[in-house]
Amino acid sequence: PNFKLNKAVIDRRIALLEEEGIVFKYNSPVDVEHLPEGFDAYVVSTGTPTARDLKIPGRELKGVHFALEMLSQQNRVLAGMEFKKEELVNAKGKDVLVIGGGDTGSDCIGTAHRQGCKSVTQIEIMPRPVDGPDDPKNPWPNWPRTLKTTSSHEEGCTRRWNINSLEFLGDKNGKLTGVRVQEITWKPNPDGGRPLMEPVGKPEIIKCEMVLLAMGFLKPEQPKFAPNVFVAGDAANGASLVVRAMASGKQIAAQIDKFLSK
Ligand SMILES: Cc1cc2nc3c(=O)[nH]c(=O)nc-3n(C[C@H](O)[C@H](O)[C@H](O)COP(=O)(O)OP(=O)(O)OC[C@H]3O[C@@H](n4cnc5c(N)ncnc54)[C@H](O)[C@@H]3O)c2cc1C
Repeated sequence: PNFKLNKAVIDRRIALLEEEGIVFKYNSPVDVEHLPEGFDAYVVSTGTPTARDLKIPGRELKGVHFALEMLSQQNRVLAGMEFKKEELVNAKGKDVLVIGGGDTGSDCIGTAHRQGCKSVTQIEIMPRPVDGPDDPKNPWPNWPRTLKTTSSHEEGCTRRWNINSLEFLGDKNGKLTGVRVQEITWKPNPDGGRPLMEPVGKPEIIKCEMVLLAMGFLKPEQPKFAPNVFVAGDAANGASLVVRAMASGKQIAAQIDKFLSK
């Protein structure tokens, strides 16, 4: 979102790269299984295009969206692009439920606020992380499972953990009116596998007119490429961070240099 990264920063960086001699071609989808001819080496850096879906009853209702339907459209709206009213994914005047407690969900909260939503609730299926760095079960250098509170959370949001979504509910016009959810608990798996989810108490309904699904992205499976095709960034490693994508790009650049120098 622009409130996190002003697009002028991106434009400035692209201008620098163009000055270095890189040619960017926009609106050019490439079928990576049939790469265009005429290059000595290729880098596939197509990111993680497939968001994790929530296939529970009512998924087809009007008002249930993937997070990026909203987030990428909002960037385009702010860049001056126009959309038909029926295409707009806009939270104005709505109670919004964000499903997924991570960074993408946090971006949805900040964007919903800027669009003028009535309220935002964020639910997460996993337990609330510890509110500090000192969990002995989670020592360095493991990924810190600590509670993250972003500026978007601070702008106002109800946050709940250990909540499973059971069903999207709608009216007779096919419009979303709420989500049936249930509090759960996680029990250790006697077989040593993933912890087991157990319901706690009765299901309840969270009233909302908009749901944003922010439950992560599937790691892409790449075909077996020829030796002159390299894969970088999220396309290689799964959804991660900008710094990791940049580090991956630098590593791949070094590998291509070696490959071409042979
Ligand atoms: C909502 C959201 C918020 C995030 N916030 C942060 C954050 O705050 N900090 C952080 O560090 N990271 C954040 N990330 C993660 C970060 O954006 C990614 O890790 C990073 O952008 C990965 O870079 P990449 O170049 O590998 O892929 P991407 O940035 O995903 O770029 C892939 C590009 O390839 C294009 N493409 C895909 N398929 C094709 C094709 N067939 N032909 C041509 N082009 C194609 C796509 O249109 C896209 O432009 C966030 C991600 C999301 C989704």
